[in-house]
Amino acid sequence: MTLHPSHNQEKNTEYLQKINGEHHMQPFSANGELAEAGARIIDKADGCYIWDTDGNKILDAMSGLWCTSIGYGRDEIADAVAEQMKKLPYYNTFFKTSHSPAALLAERLATLAPEHINKVFFSSGGSDANDTNIRLVRHYWATKGKKSKKTIIARHNAYHGSTVGAASLGGMKFMHEQGDLPIPGIVHINQPYWYAEGGDKDPETFGLERARELEEKILELGEDNVAAFIGEPIQGAGGVIIPPDSYWPEIQRICDKYEILLIADEVICGFGRTGNWFASTTFNIKPDLITIAKGLSSGYLPIGGVLISDRVADVIYSEEGGEFNHGYTYSGHPATCIAALKNLDIMERENLIDRIKNELGPYLKERWLTLSDHPLVGEARLMGTVGAIELTPDKASRAPFKAKEGTVGTICRDYCFANNLIMRAVGDTMIISPQFTMSFEEVDELVAKARLCLDKTLEQITAENID
Ligand SMILES: *Cc1c(COP(=O)(O)O)cnc(C)c1O
Repeated sequence: MTLHPSHNQEKNTEYLQKINGEHHMQPFSANGELAEAGARIIDKADGCYIWDTDGNKILDAMSGLWCTSIGYGRDEIADAVAEQMKKLPYYNTFFKTSHSPAALLAERLATLAPEHINKVFFSSGGSDANDTNIRLVRHYWATKGKKSKKTIIARHNAYHGSTVGAASLGGMKFMHEQGDLPIPGIVHINQPYWYAEGGDKDPETFGLERARELEEKILELGEDNVAAFIGEPIQGAGGVIIPPDSYWPEIQRICDKYEILLIADEVICGFGRTGNWFASTTFNIKPDLITIAKGLSSGYLPIGGVLISDRVADVIYSEEGGEFNHGYTYSGHPATCIAALKNLDIMERENLIDRIKNELGPYLKERWLTLSDHPLVGEARLMGTVGAIELTPDKASRAPFKAKEGTVGTICRDYCFANNLIMRAVGDTMIISPQFTMSFEEVDELVAKARLCLDKTLEQITAENID
Protein backbone atom coordinates (compact mmCIF):
# COMPACT_ATOMS: atom_id res chain seq x y z
CA MET A 1 0.00 0.00 0.00
CA THR A 2 1.29 3.45 -0.77
CA LEU A 3 0.04 6.43 1.11
CA HIS A 4 0.71 9.94 -0.06
CA PRO A 5 3.68 11.08 2.03
CA SER A 6 1.77 13.97 3.57
CA HIS A 7 -0.65 11.43 5.07
CA ASN A 8 1.70 8.95 6.57
CA GLN A 9 4.81 10.94 7.39
CA GLU A 10 3.25 12.96 10.15
CA LYS A 11 2.70 9.83 12.20
CA ASN A 12 6.17 8.69 11.35
CA THR A 13 8.42 11.48 12.59
CA GLU A 14 10.12 9.24 15.08
CA TYR A 15 10.59 6.40 12.61
CA LEU A 16 11.94 8.74 9.94
CA GLN A 17 14.36 10.32 12.40
CA LYS A 18 15.51 6.86 13.40
CA ILE A 19 16.22 5.53 9.90
CA ASN A 20 17.63 8.88 8.86
CA GLY A 21 20.00 8.86 11.80
CA GLU A 22 21.02 5.27 11.18
CA HIS A 23 21.65 5.50 7.46
CA HIS A 24 21.79 9.03 6.13
CA MET A 25 25.10 10.81 6.51
CA GLN A 26 24.30 14.49 6.07
CA PRO A 27 26.29 17.38 4.64
CA PHE A 28 27.95 19.93 6.94
CA SER A 29 26.68 18.11 10.04
CA ALA A 30 28.13 16.59 13.19
CA ASN A 31 26.52 13.33 12.19
CA GLY A 32 26.88 11.47 15.48
CA GLU A 33 25.26 14.28 17.38
CA LEU A 34 22.58 14.78 14.74
CA ALA A 35 21.66 11.10 14.66
CA GLU A 36 21.31 11.20 18.41
CA ALA A 37 19.11 14.33 18.44
CA GLY A 38 17.16 13.46 15.30
CA ALA A 39 16.88 15.72 12.27
CA ARG A 40 13.84 17.91 11.80
CA ILE A 41 11.97 16.18 8.97
CA ILE A 42 10.55 18.63 6.43
CA ASP A 43 7.43 17.36 4.76
CA LYS A 44 5.97 19.95 2.42
CA ALA A 45 6.19 23.57 1.41
CA ASP A 46 4.18 26.34 -0.14
CA GLY A 47 5.06 29.97 -0.90
CA CYS A 48 7.52 31.14 1.77
CA TYR A 49 6.63 28.42 4.29
CA ILE A 50 7.77 24.89 5.00
CA TRP A 51 6.03 22.35 7.23
CA ASP A 52 7.73 19.64 9.25
CA THR A 53 6.23 16.22 9.97
CA ASP A 54 5.00 17.45 13.35
CA GLY A 55 2.83 19.95 11.52
CA ASN A 56 4.84 23.07 12.42
CA LYS A 57 4.50 25.85 9.87
CA ILE A 58 7.86 27.57 9.51
CA LEU A 59 8.70 30.84 7.73
CA ASP A 60 11.68 30.04 5.54
CA ALA A 61 13.67 33.26 5.37
CA MET A 62 16.62 31.47 3.74
CA SER A 63 14.82 30.26 0.58
CA GLY A 64 15.99 26.74 1.35
CA LEU A 65 19.71 27.22 0.78
CA TRP A 66 19.47 30.58 -1.01
CA CYS A 67 17.69 28.95 -3.90
CA THR A 68 13.88 28.91 -3.91
CA SER A 69 13.58 32.48 -5.22
CA ILE A 70 10.12 32.08 -6.75
CA GLY A 71 8.78 30.33 -3.65
CA TYR A 72 7.60 26.79 -3.14
CA GLY A 73 4.59 25.10 -4.66
CA ARG A 74 4.85 26.03 -8.32
CA ASP A 75 2.95 23.19 -9.99
CA GLU A 76 3.76 24.73 -13.35
CA ILE A 77 7.37 23.62 -12.97
CA ALA A 78 6.41 20.14 -11.77
CA ASP A 79 4.08 19.70 -14.74
CA ALA A 80 6.61 20.89 -17.30
CA VAL A 81 9.29 18.64 -15.82
CA ALA A 82 6.91 15.64 -15.82
CA GLU A 83 6.10 16.23 -19.45
CA GLN A 84 9.78 16.48 -20.35
CA MET A 85 10.57 13.31 -18.40
CA LYS A 86 7.96 11.38 -20.31
CA LYS A 87 9.31 12.64 -23.62
CA LEU A 88 13.06 12.55 -23.05
CA PRO A 89 14.11 11.96 -19.43
CA TYR A 90 17.79 11.93 -20.24
CA TYR A 91 20.27 12.19 -22.98
CA ASN A 92 23.89 13.27 -22.82
CA THR A 93 25.40 16.29 -24.50
CA PHE A 94 28.89 14.83 -24.99
CA PHE A 95 29.14 13.16 -28.38
CA LYS A 96 27.89 15.62 -30.97
CA THR A 97 24.34 15.46 -29.60
CA SER A 98 22.16 17.97 -27.83
CA HIS A 99 18.44 18.50 -27.21
CA SER A 100 15.94 21.31 -27.17
CA PRO A 101 15.87 21.99 -23.39
CA ALA A 102 19.65 22.56 -23.29
CA ALA A 103 19.67 24.63 -26.49
CA LEU A 104 16.70 26.74 -25.40
CA LEU A 105 18.08 27.40 -21.92
CA ALA A 106 21.48 28.31 -23.36
CA GLU A 107 19.84 30.80 -25.70
CA ARG A 108 17.75 32.23 -22.87
CA LEU A 109 20.77 32.68 -20.63
CA ALA A 110 22.67 34.43 -23.40
CA THR A 111 19.79 36.90 -23.64
CA LEU A 112 19.66 37.55 -19.90
CA ALA A 113 23.42 37.71 -19.33
CA PRO A 114 25.47 40.91 -19.73
CA GLU A 115 26.05 41.77 -23.38
CA HIS A 116 29.59 40.40 -23.65
CA ILE A 117 28.42 36.95 -22.56
CA ASN A 118 26.82 34.60 -25.06
CA LYS A 119 27.72 31.05 -24.05
CA VAL A 120 27.07 28.67 -21.19
CA PHE A 121 28.58 25.40 -19.98
CA PHE A 122 26.19 23.36 -17.83
CA SER A 123 26.88 21.55 -14.56
CA SER A 124 24.71 20.06 -11.82
CA GLY A 125 25.42 22.74 -9.22
CA GLY A 126 27.74 25.50 -8.11
CA SER A 127 30.69 23.45 -6.86
CA ASP A 128 31.21 21.53 -10.06
CA ALA A 129 30.68 24.74 -12.05
CA ASN A 130 33.59 26.28 -10.16
CA ASP A 131 35.67 23.19 -10.93
CA THR A 132 34.80 23.89 -14.55
CA ASN A 133 36.12 27.41 -14.05
CA ILE A 134 39.48 26.07 -12.89
CA ARG A 135 39.69 23.86 -15.98
CA LEU A 136 38.47 26.64 -18.27
CA VAL A 137 40.84 29.39 -17.22
CA ARG A 138 43.88 27.14 -17.39
CA HIS A 139 42.84 25.75 -20.76
CA TYR A 140 42.23 29.33 -21.93
CA TRP A 141 45.71 30.53 -21.04
CA ALA A 142 47.41 27.36 -22.28
CA THR A 143 45.62 27.71 -25.61
CA LYS A 144 46.90 31.28 -25.84
CA GLY A 145 50.42 29.94 -25.33
CA LYS A 146 50.70 31.21 -21.75
CA LYS A 147 50.82 27.92 -19.91
CA SER A 148 52.45 29.48 -16.85
CA LYS A 149 49.34 31.55 -16.14
CA LYS A 150 47.80 28.97 -13.83
CA THR A 151 47.38 30.34 -10.34
CA ILE A 152 43.95 31.50 -9.23
CA ILE A 153 43.62 34.16 -6.56
CA ALA A 154 40.62 33.84 -4.25
CA ARG A 155 39.66 35.23 -0.85
CA HIS A 156 39.64 34.13 2.76
CA ASN A 157 36.14 33.34 4.02
CA ALA A 158 34.80 32.93 0.49
CA TYR A 159 32.45 30.06 -0.32
CA HIS A 160 32.68 28.49 -3.76
CA GLY A 161 31.40 24.99 -3.00
CA SER A 162 32.52 21.73 -1.50
CA THR A 163 34.34 19.66 -4.12
CA VAL A 164 38.12 19.54 -3.79
CA GLY A 165 38.52 22.27 -6.40
CA ALA A 166 35.68 24.48 -5.21
CA ALA A 167 36.58 24.15 -1.53
CA SER A 168 40.14 25.12 -2.46
CA LEU A 169 38.87 28.25 -4.20
CA GLY A 170 36.81 28.90 -1.11
CA GLY A 171 38.52 30.37 1.89
CA MET A 172 36.84 28.48 4.71
CA LYS A 173 39.52 27.45 7.17
CA PHE A 174 37.35 24.79 8.78
CA MET A 175 36.95 23.18 5.37
CA HIS A 176 40.62 23.44 4.42
CA GLU A 177 41.57 21.73 7.66
CA GLN A 178 39.79 18.56 6.53
CA GLY A 179 41.43 17.06 3.48
CA ASP A 180 44.61 19.06 3.14
CA LEU A 181 43.25 21.97 1.13
CA PRO A 182 43.73 24.15 -0.78
CA ILE A 183 45.23 22.23 -3.70
CA PRO A 184 48.34 23.82 -5.25
CA GLY A 185 47.81 26.80 -7.55
CA ILE A 186 45.17 28.55 -5.48
CA VAL A 187 46.06 31.40 -3.11
CA HIS A 188 43.94 33.68 -0.94
CA ILE A 189 43.85 37.36 -0.10
CA ASN A 190 41.82 39.16 2.55
CA GLN A 191 38.11 39.86 2.23
CA PRO A 192 36.37 43.25 2.11
CA TYR A 193 34.60 42.65 5.44
CA TRP A 194 34.49 46.14 6.90
CA TYR A 195 32.32 45.36 9.95
CA ALA A 196 34.68 42.74 11.35
CA GLU A 197 38.04 43.82 9.97
CA GLY A 198 37.77 47.50 9.07
CA GLY A 199 38.64 48.84 12.51
CA ASP A 200 38.70 52.65 12.59
CA LYS A 201 39.04 53.05 8.83
CA ASP A 202 36.17 54.42 6.86
CA PRO A 203 34.60 51.72 4.69
CA GLU A 204 35.69 53.17 1.32
CA THR A 205 39.36 53.44 2.30
CA PHE A 206 39.20 49.93 3.67
CA GLY A 207 37.52 48.62 0.50
CA LEU A 208 40.29 50.09 -1.65
CA GLU A 209 42.98 48.62 0.59
CA ARG A 210 41.47 45.17 0.41
CA ALA A 211 41.13 45.37 -3.38
CA ARG A 212 44.76 46.44 -3.68
CA GLU A 213 45.81 43.24 -1.97
CA LEU A 214 44.98 41.65 -5.31
CA GLU A 215 47.55 43.85 -7.01
CA GLU A 216 50.16 43.08 -4.36
CA LYS A 217 49.52 39.35 -4.76
CA ILE A 218 49.81 39.54 -8.55
CA LEU A 219 53.10 41.43 -8.27
CA GLU A 220 54.36 38.92 -5.72
CA LEU A 221 53.48 35.91 -7.91
CA GLY A 222 54.31 37.60 -11.22
CA GLU A 223 51.49 38.34 -13.63
CA ASP A 224 52.75 35.62 -15.97
CA ASN A 225 51.77 33.09 -13.34
CA VAL A 226 48.28 34.33 -12.52
CA ALA A 227 45.26 33.04 -14.43
CA ALA A 228 42.25 34.53 -12.65
CA PHE A 229 40.67 36.14 -9.66
CA ILE A 230 37.43 34.72 -8.27
CA GLY A 231 34.97 36.36 -5.88
CA GLU A 232 31.33 36.40 -4.89
CA PRO A 233 29.94 39.90 -5.55
CA ILE A 234 28.39 39.63 -2.08
CA GLN A 235 29.88 36.84 0.04
CA GLY A 236 26.95 34.65 1.01
CA ALA A 237 27.90 31.75 3.26
CA GLY A 238 30.70 33.89 4.71
CA GLY A 239 28.02 36.08 6.33
CA VAL A 240 26.33 38.22 3.64
CA ILE A 241 29.30 40.52 3.34
CA ILE A 242 28.42 43.50 1.16
CA PRO A 243 31.69 45.13 0.07
CA PRO A 244 32.25 48.89 0.26
CA ASP A 245 31.46 50.67 -3.03
CA SER A 246 35.16 51.24 -3.67
CA TYR A 247 35.97 47.52 -3.78
CA TRP A 248 34.74 46.06 -7.06
CA PRO A 249 35.76 48.90 -9.41
CA GLU A 250 39.32 48.62 -8.08
CA ILE A 251 39.31 44.83 -8.53
CA GLN A 252 38.13 45.35 -12.12
CA ARG A 253 40.88 47.90 -12.75
CA ILE A 254 43.54 45.53 -11.44
CA CYS A 255 42.27 42.54 -13.45
CA ASP A 256 42.29 44.67 -16.61
CA LYS A 257 45.74 46.09 -15.95
CA TYR A 258 47.43 42.71 -15.45
CA GLU A 259 45.32 40.67 -17.89
CA ILE A 260 43.81 38.49 -15.21
CA LEU A 261 40.46 36.79 -15.89
CA LEU A 262 37.70 37.89 -13.53
CA ILE A 263 35.33 35.17 -12.29
CA ALA A 264 32.17 36.34 -10.53
CA ASP A 265 30.63 33.53 -8.49
CA GLU A 266 26.99 34.53 -8.72
CA VAL A 267 25.55 31.26 -7.43
CA ILE A 268 23.71 33.28 -4.77
CA CYS A 269 23.75 36.77 -6.27
CA GLY A 270 22.61 35.81 -9.76
CA PHE A 271 19.03 35.70 -11.04
CA GLY A 272 17.73 38.71 -9.20
CA ARG A 273 18.99 38.47 -5.65
CA THR A 274 20.50 41.98 -5.69
CA GLY A 275 17.75 43.57 -7.78
CA ASN A 276 19.30 42.97 -11.22
CA TRP A 277 19.52 39.73 -13.17
CA PHE A 278 23.20 39.64 -12.22
CA ALA A 279 25.07 41.32 -9.38
CA SER A 280 27.83 42.06 -11.88
CA THR A 281 25.40 44.66 -13.21
CA THR A 282 24.64 45.90 -9.69
CA PHE A 283 28.36 46.35 -8.96
CA ASN A 284 29.19 47.45 -12.50
CA ILE A 285 31.85 44.83 -13.23
CA LYS A 286 32.52 42.92 -16.43
CA PRO A 287 33.43 39.37 -15.49
CA ASP A 288 34.93 36.96 -18.00
CA LEU A 289 33.12 34.04 -16.35
CA ILE A 290 30.05 33.91 -14.12
CA THR A 291 29.24 30.89 -11.97
CA ILE A 292 25.51 30.16 -11.75
CA ALA A 293 23.31 27.62 -9.89
CA LYS A 294 20.76 27.90 -7.04
CA GLY A 295 18.36 30.63 -8.29
CA LEU A 296 18.76 29.44 -11.88
CA SER A 297 16.11 26.78 -11.20
CA SER A 298 14.94 28.14 -7.82
CA GLY A 299 16.26 24.82 -6.54
CA TYR A 300 13.41 22.84 -8.11
CA LEU A 301 16.00 20.62 -9.79
CA PRO A 302 19.79 20.66 -9.51
CA ILE A 303 21.40 22.66 -12.28
CA GLY A 304 24.33 25.06 -12.48
CA GLY A 305 26.82 26.27 -15.00
CA VAL A 306 29.34 28.83 -16.13
CA LEU A 307 28.42 31.81 -18.28
CA ILE A 308 31.28 32.41 -20.67
CA SER A 309 32.27 35.76 -22.17
CA ASP A 310 33.11 36.18 -25.84
CA ARG A 311 36.73 36.83 -24.89
CA VAL A 312 37.08 33.37 -23.35
CA ALA A 313 34.75 31.58 -25.75
CA ASP A 314 36.63 32.84 -28.82
CA VAL A 315 39.79 31.11 -27.58
CA ILE A 316 38.06 27.90 -26.47
CA TYR A 317 36.23 27.66 -29.81
CA SER A 318 39.35 28.38 -31.88
CA GLU A 319 41.21 25.71 -33.81
CA GLU A 320 44.04 25.80 -31.23
CA GLY A 321 41.42 25.33 -28.50
CA GLY A 322 40.66 21.90 -29.90
CA GLU A 323 38.68 19.55 -27.72
CA PHE A 324 37.77 20.66 -24.16
CA ASN A 325 38.28 17.43 -22.24
CA HIS A 326 35.79 18.16 -19.53
CA GLY A 327 32.11 17.56 -18.79
CA TYR A 328 29.54 15.95 -16.55
CA THR A 329 27.10 13.13 -17.25
CA TYR A 330 24.32 15.51 -16.29
CA SER A 331 25.62 18.62 -18.10
CA GLY A 332 22.47 20.13 -19.59
CA HIS A 333 20.18 17.41 -18.21
CA PRO A 334 16.88 17.95 -20.05
CA ALA A 335 14.55 17.90 -17.03
CA THR A 336 16.71 20.35 -15.09
CA CYS A 337 16.91 22.69 -18.10
CA ILE A 338 13.12 22.69 -18.35
CA ALA A 339 12.84 23.48 -14.63
CA ALA A 340 15.23 26.41 -15.13
CA LEU A 341 13.37 27.68 -18.20
CA LYS A 342 10.04 27.59 -16.36
CA ASN A 343 11.60 29.31 -13.36
CA LEU A 344 12.88 32.11 -15.60
CA ASP A 345 9.45 32.33 -17.27
CA ILE A 346 7.84 32.85 -13.88
CA MET A 347 10.40 35.47 -12.83
CA GLU A 348 9.78 37.43 -16.02
CA ARG A 349 6.01 37.01 -16.07
CA GLU A 350 5.68 38.17 -12.47
CA ASN A 351 8.29 40.92 -12.84
CA LEU A 352 10.05 39.58 -9.77
CA ILE A 353 13.36 41.32 -10.38
CA ASP A 354 11.58 44.63 -10.71
CA ARG A 355 9.67 43.82 -7.53
CA ILE A 356 12.95 43.37 -5.65
CA LYS A 357 14.35 46.60 -6.96
CA ASN A 358 11.28 48.77 -6.43
CA GLU A 359 8.95 47.15 -3.90
CA LEU A 360 10.08 44.18 -1.84
CA GLY A 361 13.73 45.21 -1.62
CA PRO A 362 13.12 48.73 -0.29
CA TYR A 363 10.43 47.54 2.13
CA LEU A 364 12.50 44.64 3.42
CA LYS A 365 15.51 46.92 3.83
CA GLU A 366 13.58 49.51 5.78
CA ARG A 367 12.09 46.88 8.08
CA TRP A 368 15.31 44.90 8.46
CA LEU A 369 17.38 47.95 9.35
CA THR A 370 15.01 48.71 12.24
CA LEU A 371 16.72 45.81 14.01
CA SER A 372 19.89 47.87 14.30
CA ASP A 373 18.50 49.60 17.40
CA HIS A 374 18.46 46.30 19.28
CA PRO A 375 21.08 46.21 22.07
CA LEU A 376 22.60 42.99 20.64
CA VAL A 377 22.95 44.27 17.09
CA GLY A 378 26.17 45.91 15.93
CA GLU A 379 25.06 46.34 12.33
CA ALA A 380 22.09 45.47 10.14
CA ARG A 381 22.72 45.43 6.39
CA LEU A 382 20.79 44.36 3.35
CA MET A 383 20.93 44.56 -0.43
CA GLY A 384 18.13 43.35 -2.68
CA THR A 385 16.95 40.33 -0.72
CA VAL A 386 20.07 39.28 1.16
CA GLY A 387 20.73 40.62 4.59
CA ALA A 388 22.61 40.14 7.83
CA ILE A 389 22.70 41.33 11.40
CA GLU A 390 25.89 41.26 13.41
CA LEU A 391 25.54 40.29 17.06
CA THR A 392 27.86 42.05 19.48
CA PRO A 393 28.23 42.67 23.21
CA ASP A 394 29.31 46.26 22.45
CA LYS A 395 27.64 48.22 19.69
CA ALA A 396 30.11 51.11 19.70
CA SER A 397 33.27 49.08 19.19
CA ARG A 398 31.67 46.29 17.07
CA ALA A 399 33.57 43.92 19.35
CA PRO A 400 33.14 40.15 19.06
CA PHE A 401 31.94 38.16 22.07
CA LYS A 402 34.55 36.79 24.46
CA ALA A 403 32.69 33.48 24.28
CA LYS A 404 33.76 31.11 21.49
CA GLU A 405 32.70 32.43 18.07
CA GLY A 406 29.27 31.12 17.14
CA THR A 407 28.07 30.56 20.71
CA VAL A 408 25.61 33.45 20.66
CA GLY A 409 24.74 33.00 16.99
CA THR A 410 23.78 29.40 17.69
CA ILE A 411 21.61 30.40 20.66
CA CYS A 412 19.81 32.90 18.44
CA ARG A 413 19.47 30.40 15.59
CA ASP A 414 17.94 27.85 17.97
CA TYR A 415 15.39 30.41 19.18
CA CYS A 416 14.48 31.10 15.56
CA PHE A 417 14.04 27.37 14.96
CA ALA A 418 11.88 27.05 18.08
CA ASN A 419 9.77 30.02 16.95
CA ASN A 420 9.24 28.70 13.44
CA LEU A 421 11.57 31.03 11.62
CA ILE A 422 14.46 29.81 9.48
CA MET A 423 17.29 32.31 9.89
CA ARG A 424 20.83 31.06 9.61
CA ALA A 425 23.80 31.78 11.85
CA VAL A 426 27.31 32.23 10.44
CA GLY A 427 29.40 32.51 13.57
CA ASP A 428 27.66 35.37 15.39
CA THR A 429 26.15 36.83 12.24
CA MET A 430 22.49 36.11 11.49
CA ILE A 431 21.60 35.98 7.81
CA ILE A 432 18.51 35.92 5.61
CA SER A 433 17.84 35.40 1.93
CA PRO A 434 14.07 35.36 1.50
CA GLN A 435 11.92 34.47 -1.50
CA PHE A 436 11.30 37.17 -4.09
CA THR A 437 7.59 36.54 -3.66
CA MET A 438 7.50 37.33 0.06
CA SER A 439 4.51 39.53 0.94
CA PHE A 440 4.85 42.66 3.07
CA GLU A 441 2.92 40.88 5.84
CA GLU A 442 5.43 38.03 5.72
CA VAL A 443 8.27 40.55 5.90
CA ASP A 444 6.64 41.98 9.03
CA GLU A 445 6.37 38.48 10.48
CA LEU A 446 10.02 37.82 9.66
CA VAL A 447 11.26 40.99 11.34
CA ALA A 448 8.96 40.61 14.37
CA LYS A 449 10.15 37.03 14.90
CA ALA A 450 13.77 38.06 14.44
CA ARG A 451 13.35 40.73 17.12
CA LEU A 452 11.65 38.28 19.46
CA CYS A 453 14.54 35.84 19.03
CA LEU A 454 17.07 38.62 19.64
CA ASP A 455 15.24 39.49 22.88
CA LYS A 456 15.27 35.87 24.01
CA THR A 457 18.93 35.52 23.09
CA LEU A 458 19.84 38.63 25.06
CA GLU A 459 17.85 37.35 28.02
CA GLN A 460 19.64 34.00 27.96
CA ILE A 461 23.18 35.32 27.54
CA THR A 462 22.57 37.88 30.28
CA ALA A 463 21.31 35.14 32.62
CA GLU A 464 24.30 32.92 31.74
CA ASN A 465 26.87 35.73 31.82
CA ILE A 466 27.95 35.18 28.23
CA ASP A 467 29.66 38.28 26.89
C1 LIG B 1 26.16 27.27 -2.75
C2 LIG B 1 27.31 27.93 -3.42
C3 LIG B 1 28.18 27.19 -4.24
C4 LIG B 1 28.10 25.70 -4.35
O1 LIG B 1 26.96 25.28 -5.02
P1 LIG B 1 26.49 23.74 -4.86
O2 LIG B 1 25.30 23.68 -5.77
O3 LIG B 1 26.20 23.49 -3.44
O4 LIG B 1 27.59 22.89 -5.37
C5 LIG B 1 29.17 27.87 -4.91
N1 LIG B 1 29.31 29.19 -4.79
C6 LIG B 1 28.51 29.94 -4.01
C7 LIG B 1 28.70 31.41 -3.94
C8 LIG B 1 27.50 29.33 -3.28
O5 LIG B 1 26.73 30.04 -2.47
